[in-house]
Amino acid sequence: MAGSLESKVALVTGGGSGMGRATALIFAREGARVVVADVNAEGGEDTVSMINDAGGEAIFAYADVSRAADVEAMVNRAVETYGRLDCAHNNAGIEGPVGLRTHEYPDDAWGQLMSVNLKGVWLCLRYEIPQMLKQGGGAIVNTSSAAGLVGMRGASAYAATKHGVAGLTKTAALEYARPGIGVDAVCPGFIHTPMFARINVDNPRGEEQASAMEPVGRLGTPEEVAEVVVWLCSDAASFVTGNVMPVDAGFVIG
Ligand code: NAP
Repeated sequence: MAGSLESKVALVTGGGSGMGRATALIFAREGARVVVADVNAEGGEDTVSMINDAGGEAIFAYADVSRAADVEAMVNRAVETYGRLDCAHNNAGIEGPVGLRTHEYPDDAWGQLMSVNLKGVWLCLRYEIPQMLKQGGGAIVNTSSAAGLVGMRGASAYAATKHGVAGLTKTAALEYARPGIGVDAVCPGFIHTPMFARINVDNPRGEEQASAMEPVGRLGTPEEVAEVVVWLCSDAASFVTGNVMPVDAGFVIG
């Protein structure tokens, strides 16, 4: 049976780990040719090998999403290699320091989070959209967070960037609905990834505490988020745009 993304070309930033890797693998499972972009070359190349081993097609593109030249080169690489760009998961992000209150947050970390988590998503849109306009459409999914929908103690900069991604997503959705580019965001709850492990490195009860905050009583898996991203990029979601969608098993409604 043909996959839902047969003959499409998909790009994932932060594709060398966690949810980005899971999305890259599921894009490939659904028949897309995949550009795996990351600052972590080893992780990105490993994702490409996993896709190739499963019979799919992928390349790695080094890109720091906070640098315009890298993002432009990443999109050019996708088009030069595969001829087009149909789907993009703008997912790369960093957590920054955790547990500091708003007035304690360091300047340099504030700037770094804004550059990667917020400007990085905007730069991706800036270079992906012109290519999709040329082709007459496309689908873009940005990664926000539950912290893009509700406040989160000890994560002021992170929550600010993720709320920013939500605003950027809704605005771009309105601007590009007519030319046929869907723009949505996913807002994951607590997901079992290397980022979650880093945040909880000094807290042996971190998983238990986060699980207790999730109505289903457990963390999510990267694949549970990736399946939603891939659905949003498929033709099955053709009347869907501008959603800032919780993928959190009910965390933000609690
Ligand atoms: P992850 O396992 O740390 O994966 C993120 C990947 O992005 C890593 O390979 C990382 O490389 C890469 N990266 C970091 N900075 C980058 C940059 N400037 N340009 C390109 N790539 C960069 O994280 P994850 O948990 O899968 O998170 C993915 C996204 O989901 C992030 O936007 C995160 O904020 C969001 N999110 C996560 C959770 C959660 O519970 N895990 C919940 C809600 C939202 P390095 O490994 O070298 O840093």
